[in-house]
Amino acid sequence: MISSIRGFNDILSEETILWQHIEECARNVFKTYGFSEIRIPILERTELFSRSIGNTTDIVEKEMYTFLDRNNESLTLRPEGTASVVRAYIEHKLYNSPTAKFYYLGPMFRYERPQKGRYRQFYQIGAEVFGIDEPRVDAETLDMLLFLFNELKLDNVKLEINSLGCKECRPLYKQKLKIFLSNKKEELCENCQRRIDANPLRVIDCKSQKCIEITKDAPSILDSICGNCKTHFDDVKKYLALFDRKYSINPRMVRGLDYYTRTTFEITSNKLGAQNAVAAGGRYDGLVKELGGHDTSGFGFAIGMERLALLLKEAGGIIEPEPTIFLIGIGEKAEIEAIRILKELRESGFIAEMGYQNKGIKNQMKIADKLGARIALILGDDELANNEITLKDMKTGEQDRVKIEGLATGLKTLNIKKQA
Ligand SMILES: [Zn+2]
Ligand SMILES: [Zn+2]
Repeated sequence: MISSIRGFNDILSEETILWQHIEECARNVFKTYGFSEIRIPILERTELFSRSIGNTTDIVEKEMYTFLDRNNESLTLRPEGTASVVRAYIEHKLYNSPTAKFYYLGPMFRYERPQKGRYRQFYQIGAEVFGIDEPRVDAETLDMLLFLFNELKLDNVKLEINSLGCKECRPLYKQKLKIFLSNKKEELCENCQRRIDANPLRVIDCKSQKCIEITKDAPSILDSICGNCKTHFDDVKKYLALFDRKYSINPRMVRGLDYYTRTTFEITSNKLGAQNAVAAGGRYDGLVKELGGHDTSGFGFAIGMERLALLLKEAGGIIEPEPTIFLIGIGEKAEIEAIRILKELRESGFIAEMGYQNKGIKNQMKIADKLGARIALILGDDELANNEITLKDMKTGEQDRVKIEGLATGLKTLNIKKQA
């Protein structure tokens, strides 16, 4: 037997029902906020990610699936979606369209230690807004994200926000942090010792218990941001209040990607254990320019699909499969008529299955039961002679003869079809 690769999972029908429900909700919510879907490729040039996410991040240093293709070009399975959307935005000159609001859904790839809700092929739903500096964008996009959680009836999540400053004020903070950290260098983990100079912010983000302990008293970035960044952050808070959204401020949240500026945020749930973020993102005002476009601002987020599905399951949000009708035709003539009925039911929007004659009626009823069929329709010679069919309610066991003519219409009144 050939098994699947560690961290790469099959998603089976029990789960896909839930996923489809999430995706449908997301599409509907995003549409009302003026976002349209973009489908980005799974493979990109490695350079796209090293230049955007940053060379000294965990993702680029240790987690990317990078390989040379047959043409000796370095390619990478996308570890996240934002870089690709930015590339597409520049490549297709999407800055010429009046609104530049996009969402995407799909798999991402990171070589991490697989754990509950975190896999090597994982799925994200993400959204990006380009070209608007206004702090209202940050608040409005967060409002959209929280509205999606409301629609999914997941009200037990928390929004945490922070500001990472801009290219003017962040270097000053980095300097302060460097001084703080260099006194404690020996105590930090190996990775962080190496990172102090290149990227001290990453030390705040380190998951090692030692580093968490040491950085407890590190200077707060919110004490270092410049006047413009402070005004922006205050306005984001003001607009969040206008959108009636609650939040808390977490100055230690620096996110694992270098491209963020000003607002960053996480949506967390205490139901998810230590790494408790289900969605995260922020503003990335330098990224479009960094990747070769105009100096355009950006704001976006990504939701972890597996974690969101976990939360929904925790909350008891199991989606019932749609009811099925199971047809049984006994004998050659009945089979011909049953096939006609099967086709009619499907074309009327019912989920309909038909058993196979060689299984015998008893076995077919068992199959109907296993499928969780709501209704069984049984057609034999006697029924056929009277233009009738036997209708068995699989829940109550009650059965009755009904006319074949008008069957689909009659079944609709039984309310066993999810109305479109
Ligand atoms: Zn600033
Ligand atoms: Zn560390």
